[in-house]
Amino acid sequence: MRPTFAHIDLDAVRANYRAVLSYVGGGADRPDVIAVVKANGYGHGAVPVARALEAAGAGMLACADIEEGVELRRGGVRASILVFGALSVSDLDGVFTHGLTPTISSPVAARALRDVATRRGSRVACHLKIDTGMNRLGFRYDNLTQTVPEVLDGAGLEIDAVYTHFATAEDRAHPLFDVQRARFDEAVRCLEELGLRARLRHAANSAALLRERATWYAAVRPGLLLYGVAPAGHTEALPLTPVMSLRSRVVAVKGMRVGETAGYGARSPVMRPTRVAVVPAGYADGLDVRIAGRGSVIVGGHRVPVIGSVSMDSITIDVTGLDVTPGDEVVLLGTQGGASIDVAEVAAAVGTVPHEILCRTGSRIVRTYGSAQE
Ligand SMILES: *Cc1c(COP(=O)(O)O)cnc(C)c1O
Repeated sequence: MRPTFAHIDLDAVRANYRAVLSYVGGGADRPDVIAVVKANGYGHGAVPVARALEAAGAGMLACADIEEGVELRRGGVRASILVFGALSVSDLDGVFTHGLTPTISSPVAARALRDVATRRGSRVACHLKIDTGMNRLGFRYDNLTQTVPEVLDGAGLEIDAVYTHFATAEDRAHPLFDVQRARFDEAVRCLEELGLRARLRHAANSAALLRERATWYAAVRPGLLLYGVAPAGHTEALPLTPVMSLRSRVVAVKGMRVGETAGYGARSPVMRPTRVAVVPAGYADGLDVRIAGRGSVIVGGHRVPVIGSVSMDSITIDVTGLDVTPGDEVVLLGTQGGASIDVAEVAAAVGTVPHEILCRTGSRIVRTYGSAQE
């Protein structure tokens, strides 16, 4: 079996869920937590993560599309499931047969959903999305009086919640964040005038909920925090436990002479005699090609650099001066002998968000589930 594994600590998922709950407070008006498990649970495995969250008390989960919702239901998830994404008309029956909570983000979507509800003689609870500045999905905040009345007109749709999504929650200096919040509040007032008094409002992803408690409303929607990763700039806000660790084993060790290079492109010749170890995890496993020359891994309790280029199936690491032999464990994410590498570090090294690092974890990598593992 290939020796590259992702270990998923489900106790950590539960602990992070509880950490978010206690962060948003113990009061009677404490917001609910809508636990985001889209994109295969950020690469961790949607069903096991969702079931762990459900066991920890999560009453609502969220995913990207109907297909993901169906997968959760087939995996035995019984909590409410909010579908964030655009509804593709061909799949609408799945909303009803699997008891999903769709997002309505356009008059067209509302019409299509109502038609199916009418045909099936049933009603569906849904959430209405307002676009307050992301310019992605949702009803534009500034022309609701033209677009929303037809959504409210007629039976079939029960609008339980109104929500929006922030474009710049991670960037504390960006003025759009407060602008979006003001637009959302104004949109909710406008909807009330149009006769829509939704039971719930929600807006905050991980970064927004940490940045501004005025965004908590009736529910918060963390994803990243549940996987034990804080958004950039928020590392101290609440206690988090990393959920995924990524481990492999050295499959070969060899020497390189001064001036030689490792891998495709033959770049970055080594300046001294170098011992290089080959690790069987490459970009097909989700490793970012930009870790070449920028990233590190841990072997024998030491952090060592990734040198040469990232191949499809392997990387090469500089183990000069270390006693490393084939079979030795290599940690790509996680801890070993007191050294550690976390997702935020890898994301920063390659210039992306931690979400992307997690989601990229390849389908070829075997996931194992359980408690923490050193
Ligand atoms: C992905 C997503 C979230 C969660 O975002 P994090 O940054 O992972 O907390 C919340 N809301 C919506 C609409 C999303 O698409």
